[in-house]
Amino acid sequence: MSHVTDEELLAYADERLPSESCTVIEQKLRLNPTLSERLTNLLLNRDKGDHSIGEIWRQHRLSCPPRAALAAYADKRLGDRLSRYLQFHLETIGCRVCAANLDDLERPDRSATAETRTRKIFQSSVGKLRLDDIE
Ligand SMILES: [Zn+2]
Repeated sequence: MSHVTDEELLAYADERLPSESCTVIEQKLRLNPTLSERLTNLLLNRDKGDHSIGEIWRQHRLSCPPRAALAAYADKRLGDRLSRYLQFHLETIGCRVCAANLDDLERPDRSATAETRTRKIFQSSVGKLRLDDIE
């Protein structure tokens, strides 16, 4: 049984995982009482107060910028302050929703099939899952 990270467990609890990963973790939780206990502890500890900025953003998906702002960001039409804000949102917080939007906006020819797009989003999600926790 491969190791499930704390982040994956929390992402599962928050329904932030792609459905396949969700199913896998669901099965593991059912078969493994220690794992469900770990998840319970994680949730309890989190509620006690991990108030890191990243955690708050993750929980509340604070202020995703409107698509128009992302478009302006992609075209470098935003001022310094807003640019920094969006950069923080995209890179530090790693908002996948906005990253996917931006990716779409930056695509010079939008003829790419929906399938390619979905695969790209999925691949970058998988990369994030392994590399720097989950969104
Ligand atoms: Zn966002």
